[in-house]
Amino acid sequence: MIDFDAHLAPYAAHSSKSRGRLHPEPAAGSRSEFQRDRDRIIHSTAFRRLEYKTQVFLNHEGDLFRTRLTHSIEVAQIARTLARSLRLNEDLVEAVSLAHDLGHTPFGHVGQDVLNECMKDHGGFEHNLQSLRVVDELEEHYGAFDGLNLTFETREGILKHCSPNNARQLGELGQRFIDKKQPSLEAQLANLADEIAYNNHDIDDGLRSGLLSMKQMEEVELFARLHRQVVQQYPGLPGRRELYETIRLMITAMTADLVETSAALLAETAPKSIDDVRESPPLIRFSPKMREETTALKRFLYANLYRHYKVNRMRVKASRIVRELFEAFMTDPVLLPFDYQVTPGDTLKQARKIADYIAGMTDRYAIREHKRIFSLDEL
Ligand code: MG
Repeated sequence: MIDFDAHLAPYAAHSSKSRGRLHPEPAAGSRSEFQRDRDRIIHSTAFRRLEYKTQVFLNHEGDLFRTRLTHSIEVAQIARTLARSLRLNEDLVEAVSLAHDLGHTPFGHVGQDVLNECMKDHGGFEHNLQSLRVVDELEEHYGAFDGLNLTFETREGILKHCSPNNARQLGELGQRFIDKKQPSLEAQLANLADEIAYNNHDIDDGLRSGLLSMKQMEEVELFARLHRQVVQQYPGLPGRRELYETIRLMITAMTADLVETSAALLAETAPKSIDDVRESPPLIRFSPKMREETTALKRFLYANLYRHYKVNRMRVKASRIVRELFEAFMTDPVLLPFDYQVTPGDTLKQARKIADYIAGMTDRYAIREHKRIFSLDEL
């Protein structure tokens, strides 16, 4: 039997001590429990759809922008680097990172907001909870169970936030939101790796799309400081390389800060096990200064990119598509593929099925489906 945990710190998530799966399965032997989770995620249907789902830009706007698939891979890369530095479980952070966006609707956040509004009398819609629903129930791959039957630790990492109401329905997994306790360090880490990834790649995509300019970026203190460093080191570097060098330094600055701050906190708190971690305050953190700088960056991106009028136009169009699809299916469930129709009269169940159907759509599928429902020229 391979010892998958030999190199890990005592406070890491150990494969041999996993709280297990909802449906018990014999150990894989050649892979740790979390490697196995990661592999199931990669082979899932929802994972493949990430390629055609977007966060800021629509999938068809350009071939070079991030999609949820490339975003998730970047998150996993950053998270693994951080995990190795802190002797945490790389397999677990990878599994959590690759699964963290599986429940996202088409069209990024606007899709989730509209679907949540549409579902307000039917239990609401929350993408984070939907990611869990995908891996626990919706994937149809195995003979013995619905979903992917992942370990408690991977599921815990996927569920980043949760309302007390929803938490009460989730049993053991929801308990920490009621008790206000922390998840594993790996879950905390994947969450911050997500932030590092999107803050940096959105600068890149924002500039590439022409919605942001280098001059504007100088308003962001962290960017301006590292950009100056690049210009000094490589005078006259062509624009794109100058930008990549700056982003590279930003990712390095953020990851180095996170490792240093968290390592000091871990040394001071000295948790002896993952259970100690769950009882402690968050131990994976940025320094106060870096937290301030990343908050300023986020604020800048919100005002100048996420609320750029060209992005707004797309958001409004996307929200119309999601709303009209939901309303059409609710009014006439017979328009739905047979798999998504329930016994007439069960409104709650029908609404959830429609939310599952819409949430599972890629951007381009949603656009096509909207045409099929509303245009006489399409079938
Ligand atoms: Mg993300």
